[in-house]
Amino acid sequence: MSAVLIDGKAFAERLRARTAEHVAGLKSLHGITPGLAVVLVGEDPASAVYVRSKAKQTVEVGMNSFEHRLDAATSEADLLTLIHGLNNDPAVNGILVQLPLPEQIDSDRVLMAIAPEKDVDGFHVINAGLLATGQKSMVPCTPLGSLMLLKDALGDLTGLNAVVVGRSNIVGKPMAQLLLRESCTVTVAHSRSRNLPGICRGADILVAAVGRPEMVKGDWIKPGATVIDVGINRVPAPDKGEGKHRLVGDVEFASASQVAGAITPVPGGVGPMTIACLLANTVTATCRVNRLPEPDGLGS
Ligand code: NDP
Repeated sequence: MSAVLIDGKAFAERLRARTAEHVAGLKSLHGITPGLAVVLVGEDPASAVYVRSKAKQTVEVGMNSFEHRLDAATSEADLLTLIHGLNNDPAVNGILVQLPLPEQIDSDRVLMAIAPEKDVDGFHVINAGLLATGQKSMVPCTPLGSLMLLKDALGDLTGLNAVVVGRSNIVGKPMAQLLLRESCTVTVAHSRSRNLPGICRGADILVAAVGRPEMVKGDWIKPGATVIDVGINRVPAPDKGEGKHRLVGDVEFASASQVAGAITPVPGGVGPMTIACLLANTVTATCRVNRLPEPDGLGS
């Protein structure tokens, strides 16, 4: 392997430590403890793991964690009532509704009900619009974390060719907006793009957010490029035993790491950055609502 490994786990730890310092400062100087409310509807095991992890890390950085676990049969109206309550609760600075939601609930309607200033996931159209028009917003956590890793690895991104594969509202599109904000020349590719390998070969920065295990091959990558692999895919791993699985990204790490200049591993790359950015966004939201200076080094 010739590529430098971008250690998202270590970066996320440092970001959490900075966040904890800001939280301590808010408490001692202003008597404010930021609070993050996480809402889980139903029993999806992967979602339950994420929610537990978010709550644990929230408490570890000194913030208040409010967990709301609702039955899978919860109606949209009841969920909206809970969100309105959280919107009006001054102890709650950030609200996260864990996706996916059960089918009787319209996710868009729920996400739009969250007060934009408490929308620490950055999914509300107001925040998406602010980001797209280059204004201060809450930035979605996974793209924000990916950008932090890129800036840490490369410094100034001005003028670099960036290719984002994937155009989802939660990763691909906001990632493209952030790279544009850094003055990259940005191409967004998707399932209908022609000659995807050729598009990728033009990238100084390649961000893969597709959800297809190891789709991006080493020979799609420009020598020396920086590769951010957002994908998290669970694939069978018979070598580890019957019924066992392992996590792989959207990039074929073995071949890509021979060509790239720097690359994020899966796991241990972008993944740990997402929750760290969620906590950082909650501190940013707390400062904004209290008209305090924006914290340095937390991103949004
Ligand atoms: P979506 O399914 O919402 O979007 C996938 C995108 O990839 C779509 O824009 C789709 O194109 C595009 N795509 C699908 N197949 C191809 C193909 N063959 N060639 C080119 N483009 C293709 O996924 P998300 O954006 O939510 O997530 C992407 C990946 O990132 C997943 O693996 C997910 O698990 C991971 N993820 C990781 C997070 C983390 O914390 N690290 C957080 C969020 C997601 P089209 O629009 O044309 O359908």
